[in-house]
This record gives sequence, C-alpha cells and structure tokens, in this order.
Amino acid sequence: MIGARAALVLFTAFLAAAPFFLSEFYVTLMNYIGLSTLVALGLVLLTGVAGLMSFGQQAFVGVGAYTSAVLAVHYGASPWIGLAAGLALTGLIAVGLGVITVRLSGHYLPLSTIAWGISVYFLFGNLEMLNKHDGVGGLPPVAIAGWKLDTGRESYVLIWLVVLAALLAARNLLDSRSGRAVRALRFRATMAESFGIDTARLKLVIFLYAALLAGLSGWLYAHFTRYVSPGAFTVNMGIEYLFMAVVGGASQVWGAVIGASLLTLLKEWLKDILPTFFESSGNYEVIVFGLLMLPLLHRARDGLMPVLARLGRAGRRAPARVVTADPLPRRAGPAAGTPLLALAGVQKNFGGLAAVRALSFDMRAGEILGLIGPNGAGKSTAFNLVTGVLPSDAGEIRFCGGRIDALPARRIARLGIARTFQHVNLVGAMSVLENVAIGAHLRGAKGSVRAMLRLDRDEERRLLHEAAKQVERVGLTAHLNDASASLPLGQQRLVEIARALAADPVLLLLDEPAAGLRFQEKQALAALLRRLRSEGMSILLVEHDMDFVMGLVERLVVMDFGEKIAEGLPRDIQANAVVIEAYLGGIEEDAP
Ligand code: ADP
Ligand code: MG
Repeated sequence: MIGARAALVLFTAFLAAAPFFLSEFYVTLMNYIGLSTLVALGLVLLTGVAGLMSFGQQAFVGVGAYTSAVLAVHYGASPWIGLAAGLALTGLIAVGLGVITVRLSGHYLPLSTIAWGISVYFLFGNLEMLNKHDGVGGLPPVAIAGWKLDTGRESYVLIWLVVLAALLAARNLLDSRSGRAVRALRFRATMAESFGIDTARLKLVIFLYAALLAGLSGWLYAHFTRYVSPGAFTVNMGIEYLFMAVVGGASQVWGAVIGASLLTLLKEWLKDILPTFFESSGNYEVIVFGLLMLPLLHRARDGLMPVLARLGRAGRRAPARVVTADPLPRRAGPAAGTPLLALAGVQKNFGGLAAVRALSFDMRAGEILGLIGPNGAGKSTAFNLVTGVLPSDAGEIRFCGGRIDALPARRIARLGIARTFQHVNLVGAMSVLENVAIGAHLRGAKGSVRAMLRLDRDEERRLLHEAAKQVERVGLTAHLNDASASLPLGQQRLVEIARALAADPVLLLLDEPAAGLRFQEKQALAALLRRLRSEGMSILLVEHDMDFVMGLVERLVVMDFGEKIAEGLPRDIQANAVVIEAYLGGIEEDAP
C-alpha cells in the first residue's frame, strides 16, 4: 500500500532515472508519452471534470507546432518566439471558438470541435506556405542558455519537466476555490450560479487551458522531431487523445499519464503486429482501441486510475486539514425591521400552467417568514424567481430597495441572498467540507492561475476554516471529510444549509429543510434557525411540516395553485377556513 505522496516520489524518481537506463527507442517513446500526456491532461479537466467534450485538441497541437515551425524556418525566429506566438494564436482561436460554442449546451461543442479539427487538417495540407502535405522540416532545436536540446534524451528533460509542472498545476487547480467551481460545472451548474460562479466564463477558462496545453505539446513536438506535417494532426489523433483521457480516468489528473502511457505503448506494439494480420498497412490501431474500450469501460467506468488507486491508496486524497485562520470579513446587514424583500404581482407560466400568479408579499429584515401550501402550489417556483434561477414573466421583485427580477442568479447571490434546494444539489463526490466551501465562493477572489501556482493558500485556509465553522454549526463535523453522497438525505439537507450560511447571506431561503430529518434533527434545526434569527438573519422558509413551521415563524404566506390565498400570524392561519380547505382539499366532511 502506498500513499499519494510516495507514488509521486516514486514516479518522479523513475522519470529522473529513465534516461540513464532506457534505450534511445524507449526514450523517444517516453517523449511521445509526455507529449500526449499534456493533451490528455487538458481533456481530463475539460471532459472528465467540466463535462465538455472536444474532438479538436489535435488541431490546437497543430497550431502550436506549425506556428513555431513557420516562424523558425521562414523567418529565422528562435523557438522561444515561436512558443509565445504559438500559444498566443492557440489562445486566440480557443477563446474565439469557446465564446461561440461553450455557452451552448448539448452537442454544439463536440460538433464544432470536429469541424474545427477537420478544417485545420485540410488547411495544413493545402497551404503553399506550409509546404502542403510534405510539411515543414529543418526546425532548430530548443536552446536553453546556450544548451541545445538536439538529442532525444535532452528533449526528454524539457518535455517531462513541462509535463510534471502541468500535472502539479492541474492538481493544484482542482484543489482550490476555482477547482471546486470547475468540479461543480458538470452536474451542478444551477447551484454554482446561485453561489455566484460565472459558469460560462469558467467553461471558457477550462477550454482555453486545455487548448494551451495542447499548443504547448505541439511546440515541444515540433522542436523535438524538428519536422511537422499534417499527418500528425488528423482527426484520428483527436479521438486517440480522448481515448487516453477516458482510459486513464477522465476525472483524475494522474489518469492522463496512465492513459497516455498505455495507449502510446499499445499503439507501438500494435503497429508491429497488426500488419501481419492485415494485407495492407493502415491505421488499424484505432479499431483495436475502440474494441478494447468496450470491455474496459464495462468493467471500470471511470477508467484505470481509480482501479490502480484502490490497489495502492494513491488516488485517495488526504483529508483536508482545517487549520485556524483569520475569519473572513462579514457583510453589514440591514437594520432589523427595514423592508428587505418585496414581491409585487410576480408571475411565472410554464406553457399553459401559471405556476405563480400575481404573487405579492413583503418581508422585513430579521424575521422568519413561512411560505406554505400544498404540493405544486408554486413555492419552489417562487424561490427560483427570487433567486434568479428562473426569469419571471411579470411583476417586480425588490431586495433592499433595488429591483432584482432582471438579474442573473450569480448577481443576486452577490447581493446577499443564499438558498438551499428542495432537490438536494450537492456535488456528490466532493467532501462535505468542499461542498460547503462552494458557498463561500464569493468571499474569496483568487482565480485559476494563482491556484495553479499555489499563491492562494492563505485565502484557501480562510475559506476552508469558514466552511468548517458552518459544518460545525449544523452539527456535521464528524462527516467533514465524507463524500456528501454518502450521507443520508436528511443530513445532505443540513449540508445545503451550511453551504448557504457560508455565503454570509442577508436573506436565507430554505426549501423544505426539515424533509427527511428525524425528530431530534428537526428540533436541532429549529434551534439553529432561532439562533440565526437572534443573530439578525432573515429567513424565508418553505416547509411542509406544519408543526415545525408554527413554532418558528413570525408570519405565514399561504399559496395554492400559484396564488396567495392567505397571509398572517400562525394561529390565525391555523384557523383560516380557506387554508384548511386548501390543505384538506377534496376530502369530504361527514358532519352536516
Ligand atoms: P411546490 O414547490 O409548491 O410544491 P412548484 O413550484 O415546484 O410547487 O411547482 C408549481 C407548479 O409548477 C407545479 O404544477 C409544477 O408541476 C410546475 N412546474 C414547476 N417547475 C416546472 C418546470 N420547470 N417546468 C414545467 N412545470 C413546472
Ligand atoms: Mg417545492
């Protein structure tokens, strides 16, 4: 059994020793593995973590390679100029392509990356300046302070230093404020937006990062082989890169190394044996890869990395150590009793169904307002309108005096509204602590680049400290490092509350927080909500459990079929005939 750190040390030791005992042939092979690892690593982040599919990474490799090749061969530029120009061009194209496609859901991104890959391949093969299909040769080697890297072993040093740096940077990124946001992108985009994360921008950043890794790989490739031709950037290659990411383990940084190693070695081996089975030569290895993928993905859906990690303990990340840190600054809330939230004639239609109809109510700072009503009354929809998850069709919503009904969810979050979701919206594979830390996203500022360089540690400690404090508040400290999906539903609701509290909100919206809780847990939750109110928090509470609400709230708003049917003090509502009718609706009374 070996730990993650030991595995890293062993791997680095192997890399350092390899050029001394491997033959020229295997050193070259290792170089190709390193080059592929860079591209596959971008796909791990893009596809495995963020859930965006690209079949066009080979085209970015090509842009990085060709840019430097043309500048060096036609204009005598140094490879370092070529690197800067190649990355700049790759970045420009990635941003251009990303701005158009990344926001669109569904198949737009995969399809446009295929189209992009094909067109670049034909462009390379048909431009006179690029020597068409013959390619550009005679590239100079990279030189570092006068040291020319003109052998395979010397290129090896550069390639693997870059790969190691990229792997560590990617690992650092995933373990940070931005990383948590990226990991929420795939399945929890609505939640992420509700905590202030700009998901479209983040997707673009990841797409750009993956493209830059590919461009970097292309530059290294060009100056290692000293020759570029269109054949290295076919759509086949794009598919192979995806295979590598998937086989290795598309959501794990080290999976990129495993996938790239395995497929590169396998391809080399297949190149030797396949021609003995087939009459003519061709790219048969892609067919074999495809056939091998089926049983692999059947047995190990998440790729080989988790399987290997189970053998050792390498994949399991050490539980986060929460150390004390300076508390994050708090928001200055409005004075108790001032108008906080006001809905006026708010409307939401789903096709022919008016889920929320001309809904109006006011709420003051420091109160707990209950929003009740039978199933399907429109309570959750009203929440979604207030938080900007859904746009309203008519009416006005004001928060602290300002209109918010036209703002996107992440802007509303910034104003100090935090919520929980009726259908629990946690990142299942992430720990309780990390899930709650997403709530504090807007209380940090360090972005992806600083995270990669580990320049975010001070802020990160403060964010995690804050998250741990909120986890303790809801009584889940014992589960701090457990995957949130491993908790029973009732406790997952508590994690949702802790995450909302981590945002330091002015107004807290809770959608059926007591559902699934046991009696004692409900009592503890009620005590927590009372404590929050005494600290000046305003709470809008949707709840089904009447007993739970009655003892807790100042006032109630009752909805039925999208409309407000009553509003008042709990004991008046309890005696209100219209409300009783709505709740008991359809049940005939026997009494005369
Ligand atoms: P509640 O939270 O009070 O139980 P909801 O707000 O979830 O009620 O739902 C109100 C009505 O709107 C229901 O009839 C529900 O089926 C419908 N509804 C909710 N969300 C959607 C949606 N995204 N698309 C279509 N209909 C919806
Ligand atoms: Mg609901």
